[in-house]
Formats: sequence, C-alpha cells, structure tokens
Amino acid sequence: CGIVGYVGKENAASILIEGLSKLEYRGYDSAGIAVLDNSRDKKEIEIIKAKGRLQALREMTDNGKAVKGYCGIGHTRWATHGEPSVINAHPHVSKDKKIAVVHNGIIENYKEIKEYLQKKGYEFVSQTDTEVIAHLLDYYYKGNCLEAITKVLGRVRGSYALGILFQENPGVMYAVRKDSPLIVGKSPQGNLIASDVPAILKYTKTVCYIDDREIAEIKADGIRFYDIDQEELQKEFKTVEWDA
Ligand code: GLU
Repeated sequence: CGIVGYVGKENAASILIEGLSKLEYRGYDSAGIAVLDNSRDKKEIEIIKAKGRLQALREMTDNGKAVKGYCGIGHTRWATHGEPSVINAHPHVSKDKKIAVVHNGIIENYKEIKEYLQKKGYEFVSQTDTEVIAHLLDYYYKGNCLEAITKVLGRVRGSYALGILFQENPGVMYAVRKDSPLIVGKSPQGNLIASDVPAILKYTKTVCYIDDREIAEIKADGIRFYDIDQEELQKEFKTVEWDA
C-alpha cells in the first residue's frame, strides 16, 4: 500500500526502508525492496521480501545497510489478490530478475493477460495481479524501456502506481501511475518516488505530481517525463509546505 524509490549517491536500501516506515500509516501485510547495484561488475537485481511488519525487513538487511547499491524500489503491500506471503510480496520480477516491479492498486484484466502470457511460455510464481506487469514488460521489452512501459499501459486496465527497474538499464528507475498516488521528489543527494510526501520529506520538499499515464524516467542526475506516446513532457516541481 506504499511505494518508495531512490536513485542517487547514498545507499538506496537504507533510504527505502526509512521511507517505507513513514508510510506505515497506510497499513500493510508484507514489505520488500529491489536494489540494482550499478557499482558492481555483476549487475543483478537483488530482491529482499518479508511478511509482516517492516521490522522483519529491517532485521534481514541491517536497516538496509547490508544491501549495497544506489538505485532501488520498495513496497509495502495490502493484499488484494493472493494471501499475504513472501511469494506474493512485492517486488515481483520477470524471468532471471531482468525486470522488477512494485505496484499499488489492482490490475482488473490480469487474468486474461496471465493466460495470454502463459500460452507464450511465461511461468508465474505468485497469485498476485501484479506479476503480470513484470512478465508483460519482459514480453514487450526489445531494448527500449520506455517503449515497453507504454505498451504495457496500453494493455492493462485498472489502477496502478508502479516503480520499475530494468537490469539492462542500471541507475534508472521508472515510475508511472493511474488512479493510485505517486510523486517524484528531487534533491542534490538523489531523486525519489513515493506514494505520499512523508516518505521523502527527510530528503526533499521539492516534488512533482505525476498525472495519470505519465511516465517518469529518473536518474541520479536528472528526471524526464513522457506521455504514453513517448513524447517528452515539461512538468513543474513545487515546494511542499510540510514539516518533517
Ligand atoms: N494488487 C496488488 C497485490 O495484491 C497490490 C496491492 C497493494 O496495493 O498493496 O499484490
């Protein structure tokens, strides 16, 4: 029921867990993070998930410090499809962890997409509606992340806020939403995404509200926005009046 993402100069996992703790009020049954360590030679997305309170994830990762990498996405889940469990917890991944996805909301037509992908040989491990997004991204990904995302948006119905990592594109995080909240924050230390302002207030008050079906492409040194036709959009950041 909450999403946080970070790319910047600091250890992503620590910031993700701190951010998720600020979204605890939204309620959840499990939590997880995906980090892509773009500083190592072996560029593999690392996934850590735990059922229950955030405390479990804190202990597994030494408050995030044990997971190295400067780019990552995190999630707290309020199960709608599939019981609360580690397998159903987000992030969900495509084959060989090439793509990782966190999702808030409900994909209404996930069953038909799942059947379609299963016929094409895709194997599902969870009961969630979310997992179709990871495999559908893989299906449409031909080297262009933005193109794959726009094709997925054209195919899914329902509500979603998504944070996405591509193994082949380290140091970049994608964010998109429709009918579920998601904001982008920027700071000299790094750029962030979150379901709500409190999650990132410790790092920045400069935020941009993503509109329905807009895609944010977020790197440590810059943020770009696109519409569903992959045309670049000019969007304004503003300063929020919140106190941490
Ligand atoms: N529908 C997704 C699931 O059940 C996301 C739930 C949420 O918003 O946390 O896994």
